[in-house]
Amino acid sequence: MPDSAPQPDTPARRVIVLGSTGSIGAQTLEVIENLNAQHAAGVFPARHEVVGLAAGRNAGRLVEQARALGVRDLALAEGAADAPAGARVRTGAGAAERLVREVEADLVVAAMVGSAGLPATLAAIELGRDVALANKETLVAAGALVIPAARERGVRLLPIDSEHSAMWQALPAPTCPPCALGPEVDRIVVTASGGPFREWDSDRIARATPAEALAHPTWDMGAKITIDCASLTNKALEVIEAHWLFGLPGDRLGVVVHPQSIVHSFVEYADGSVVAQLGAPDMRTPIQHALTWPRRAPGVSRRLDFAALGRFDFEPPDLERFPALGLAYEVIERGGVTGAVFNGANEAAVAAFLEGRIPFGRIPALSRAAMDSIAAGTPGEARDLADVLDADREARRFVELSIQTPRARARPGDPAVSAAPGASHA
Ligand code: NDP
Repeated sequence: MPDSAPQPDTPARRVIVLGSTGSIGAQTLEVIENLNAQHAAGVFPARHEVVGLAAGRNAGRLVEQARALGVRDLALAEGAADAPAGARVRTGAGAAERLVREVEADLVVAAMVGSAGLPATLAAIELGRDVALANKETLVAAGALVIPAARERGVRLLPIDSEHSAMWQALPAPTCPPCALGPEVDRIVVTASGGPFREWDSDRIARATPAEALAHPTWDMGAKITIDCASLTNKALEVIEAHWLFGLPGDRLGVVVHPQSIVHSFVEYADGSVVAQLGAPDMRTPIQHALTWPRRAPGVSRRLDFAALGRFDFEPPDLERFPALGLAYEVIERGGVTGAVFNGANEAAVAAFLEGRIPFGRIPALSRAAMDSIAAGTPGEARDLADVLDADREARRFVELSIQTPRARARPGDPAVSAAPGASHA
């Protein structure tokens, strides 16, 4: 029997999708549908069965997905769901984590947005489940917990982020994160589209509106990551994500702007060879790679036509116009809870920007100020989840107070900050 033929006795691979109602979650379900069609046609050996779905507040879409796929175990963080008969819906802030702990699975797709995804992702790792990771904020905030836990339990962290999928694919098989690359790799270079403000001057960037920041030139994504792309904070998050996934220090992680978003990242080897991964800007390709690795199956994204593409451009990132990118290297250097502070402050600032409460230019400034105030000098350690969540909360509180008192220098010692519950955590 050929390797790819369906094997009737092989049990289906059970998958939980966290963040199923979002951009990555919905595309994951589409990829699974395609893979199951390939399985039925005898092209791909494994069948995937979705056994759990988790969402934030979009109850309607969650229920629709559950009905379409026959999924009985659900989680909804906010609100209530009119669940199909026989379905079990966990609700409330810890719903996704409970779903992961209560439902047997072989793979958990972590596609929730923000640090809200951390407890459920960490639970999956503690239970020894492989994780297909889109939720980069988890690694940025808590890489110091996630990576040792994954190593200890032999859990594979299968990257979904297109850049990290590219790095992974450019490494010799069967390398799989988490790993620590040796001296045969000089460095990894993360490509960046440059976002919608690549050619704008600093003043114009500082005054950009949400509609302008949401108009990404090459990728169609959820709102938070789209804003992160416009400020290059997303690239900073990705540098930190690569640091954790591949065990590289900051000076072996570079960034280059590549506006066409076709070269998704590359690995520079010690002998001078550079290995890159290329593909259409379509998240279904890296999602599918995370699901089928180490195999490959026919995918659904369009093929590249190099003659039509004509040219690829590369240019250095401009750290003056996009200061958020430089923060990545400070986060790696400082360690401790600095990543949790950077990430929490950014999430709060992005939310405030989308609500029209701060100008675009204030997003990186607030991240910088939170890091300097809360994680200055020797930042607190990230010993456990409570340390990380405390730092995350404190960063959000710092941003909120800074927005409410724009001229005040909100520092942990200030009365306004100390008065807030939990503000004393360093
Ligand atoms: P979306 O905003 O489109 O979707 C976010 C998902 O998270 C939704 O399903 C949302 O549910 C869910 N969610 C939010 N809060 C909770 C919660 N407390 N409990 C359970 N579910 C929750 O985001 P994206 O799909 O764009 O991004 C998801 C992650 O993937 C992010 O970390 C992002 O950085 C990363 N990523 C995304 C890429 C993309 O192309 N979109 C590319 C690479 C990485 P609901 O909608 O029901 O509220």
